Amino acid sequence: FYAMYLAGALVRSHAEYRRRLQLDLALREQRDLYEHLSRTDALTGVYNRRHFTAHLDQLAQGAQQGGPAFTLLILDVDHFKQVNDRYGHVTGDACPKALADRLQIAFAAHAALLARLGGEEFGVLFEGDEAAALAAAEGFRNDLVARPLDCDGQRITVTASIGLGAFDPVHHGDGDGLYRAVDRALYQAKGLGRNRVKQLEPASA
Ligand code: GH3
Ligand code: MG
Ligand code: MG
Repeated sequence: FYAMYLAGALVRSHAEYRRRLQLDLALREQRDLYEHLSRTDALTGVYNRRHFTAHLDQLAQGAQQGGPAFTLLILDVDHFKQVNDRYGHVTGDACPKALADRLQIAFAAHAALLARLGGEEFGVLFEGDEAAALAAAEGFRNDLVARPLDCDGQRITVTASIGLGAFDPVHHGDGDGLYRAVDRALYQAKGLGRNRVKQLEPASA
């Protein structure tokens, strides 16, 4: 009788153990999913602004301590409001996704982090020297002019303005300092006639 009791207890504790393992696994999967969702942009699937800012701050701190150089790019589609006005919001919503896909392919080779910063504005972080980032940016801009985006089945040609610059620990201080400088360069690119890449002025802080 005792042996039967022991066997029963063993079976019960094994079943309990398996239940716990399954619960653990489910909790871990849920945690990973939330972590993923908190970092990504729902419409395009690329990183969101929150994750982008955190990574930018990390790179800047690293560079302050002698870590690798890096370059920030901010891109905004030109006159995108006109696309909405002409094609409607459903097609307008599909364009950021199409653009994100195009950006991902274009910059995948450069070990870059891509994020949607909002609307039709994207940020890219490149490790390595600025010349390579500039070449990639010009390549992307030219390709965008040459090949229309496929937005919800509509072929739409858009251009983009780009601000670009390498982190300078002395001038920029931190990630936010670089971000503000590159954002100003983007604004200058718009003012100079759009569809262009504007690099930081040498002393731009
Ligand atoms: P600019 O060349 O100065 O950038 O002109 P713009 O019209 O692109 O102006 P801006 O970048 O300031 O505003 C973007 C507009 O694009 C605002 C909004 O009408 C539209 N837009 C931004 N994101 C989305 C989106 O996800 N879906 C849709 N349908 N429209 C968007
Ligand atoms: Mg725009
Ligand atoms: Mg915009």
